[in-house]
Amino acid sequence: MSFDSLIEQTREALREVLPETIEVTDIELEGPHIVLYTKQLDSFLSGGDLLRQVAQRLRRRVLVRSDPATLMDPKEAEAAIRELIPREAEISALFFEPETGEVAIEAANPGAAIGRQGSVLNELKRRIGWVPTVVRTPPIPSKTVEEVRVHLRNVFDQRRKFLKNVGVKIARDRLPEKIWARTTALGGYREVGRSAHLLTTQNSKVLIDCGIDPGSDRTPFFNAPELLPLDSLDAVVVTHAHLDHCGLVPVLLKYGYTGPIYCTAPTRDMMALMLLDAIRVTNQEARKGLYDSGNVRDMVARTIPLRWGETTDIAPDMRLTMHNAGHILGSSICHFHLGDGDHNLAYSGDIKFERSWLFNPAVNRFPRLETLVLESTYGGYRDVQPSRQQATEEFGRLASKIVGRGGKLIVPVFAVGRSQEVMLVLEERMREGAIPKVPVYLDGMIFEATAIHTAYPEYLNSQLRTQIFQQGDNPFLSDIFHRIDSQQMRYSVLDSKDPCIILATSGMMSGGPVMEYFRAWAPEEKNGILFVGYQADGTFGRRLQRGLNEATFLDGGRQGSVPVRLEVATIEGFSGHSDRVQLMNYVATLDPRPTRILLNHGEESKALDLATGLHKRFNLETRVPFNLEAIRML
Ligand SMILES: [Zn+2]
Repeated sequence: MSFDSLIEQTREALREVLPETIEVTDIELEGPHIVLYTKQLDSFLSGGDLLRQVAQRLRRRVLVRSDPATLMDPKEAEAAIRELIPREAEISALFFEPETGEVAIEAANPGAAIGRQGSVLNELKRRIGWVPTVVRTPPIPSKTVEEVRVHLRNVFDQRRKFLKNVGVKIARDRLPEKIWARTTALGGYREVGRSAHLLTTQNSKVLIDCGIDPGSDRTPFFNAPELLPLDSLDAVVVTHAHLDHCGLVPVLLKYGYTGPIYCTAPTRDMMALMLLDAIRVTNQEARKGLYDSGNVRDMVARTIPLRWGETTDIAPDMRLTMHNAGHILGSSICHFHLGDGDHNLAYSGDIKFERSWLFNPAVNRFPRLETLVLESTYGGYRDVQPSRQQATEEFGRLASKIVGRGGKLIVPVFAVGRSQEVMLVLEERMREGAIPKVPVYLDGMIFEATAIHTAYPEYLNSQLRTQIFQQGDNPFLSDIFHRIDSQQMRYSVLDSKDPCIILATSGMMSGGPVMEYFRAWAPEEKNGILFVGYQADGTFGRRLQRGLNEATFLDGGRQGSVPVRLEVATIEGFSGHSDRVQLMNYVATLDPRPTRILLNHGEESKALDLATGLHKRFNLETRVPFNLEAIRML
């Protein structure tokens, strides 16, 4: 369908559905959504389910807004908002957007502001003409979330034009012949790192993930002819904010990609945090980066955030739905519906098929599914890990032993994911008295990443959400946690004689603040270090795990050595990845079960192991593609 015929079809749907008293003054495209402008917003919204009927006829998401001529003066509108929204919503800020006719209401309790089934907002809409949207006041202010919101307001005009172009492109005519489709491995196959997949039909081209290889300078196969020119891509879809999945997205923008990026809102914010930090690290090491902060800002401006379960047209013959992957905040399994349901395929990204302290297990139900691209990080037949519960018990036991004897405990963590889980474990165990109550210091990006978690509680597991919302008891706000935000504070913690626990980056001890604590505390036997995350070969963390009597450093220009006498222990079971048993269970419980599974994101032997295991047990087609290989599905 072309742009003109889509508009014509919309007019026809409006003629069929709307009573004569309601006039639509303009129709616009905004990315994948159709936007209607009307002077009778009140009647439009109170007239039963008119909007739903229009959307159903068009099979697209439809938004309705006030004709700009009908908007109440912002000052008067603000007074009306403060009068109508109950006090317990605790409004912290209001932002009027004249271009869309929207007013963003930042409130501590969005539920109270929205009212039962949106009753308060509907009443407001009728009264002021502006369309209210409610965003949560982050309980811990996050610099990243705030900067993203400010940036999006600043680029509003530019973004509006951009969204219209995206909408026009999605509405273009399909080629008449029968659809074909294939997926091409562009990185992360028979290896871990530089994840990238291309999904192609005769009409559309979509890139899923575009990551770095943390262990080397290798990039995905950017020069594969089918990827070029970059501007021929319809969309870039990002499963989650780890750099091996998103680390090179800004490079696409730098070299000519001008289209949209689809991911969840927390993935967008977390990506901005991770990418800007990566630039900072590169600068510190006086290396030349592949992109700059301008490219990251451009990426944020071009991101179209999607909610889990919301189906969106992203190309003439592709619909995308994202589902919880259980791995890190906002991480998603990306499900594609091709053509008129000719084929359905899902990219798992990284998945955890077990309820963790933070997230629900990965979604295993889809309307339809023929092909699954599945990660295999721990897919080897020996990759069996303890459960979260066992890991928690073990962590509690060791932490209690170390601080109980007056020692200091170091936990090297990645800023995102594991550090928040360890915080929750510590909070619960100290509250219950299982671990002596000592200060827990957070150093590195952990505090900021935690703040982003608290800005998006709807992406956390149901139990944690209830605890935060209904019981008003946010464990991340516990007084045991202290943020280290200056070198001075770091020195005072380093010099302190009292027992404490420190969570610090980097997770594999390849640098970062964790090294300072290690150097200071390694010589004393009563201290300890607990590894909760994967330690890659060649990293300092891995060498320490294997046993070191003395550690030598060449870090920040200082050379020296310290004796290693502290207790070193590793706790398995806190991984954000499914182990072999969980991966097999995931496929066993998939509804519907796909006919074909492609394995990626695992060392070659693990991917092959899992492929064999899945084929034997479920008798389905399994394949372990090589990078650059394309698999035809239709
Ligand atoms: Zn990941």
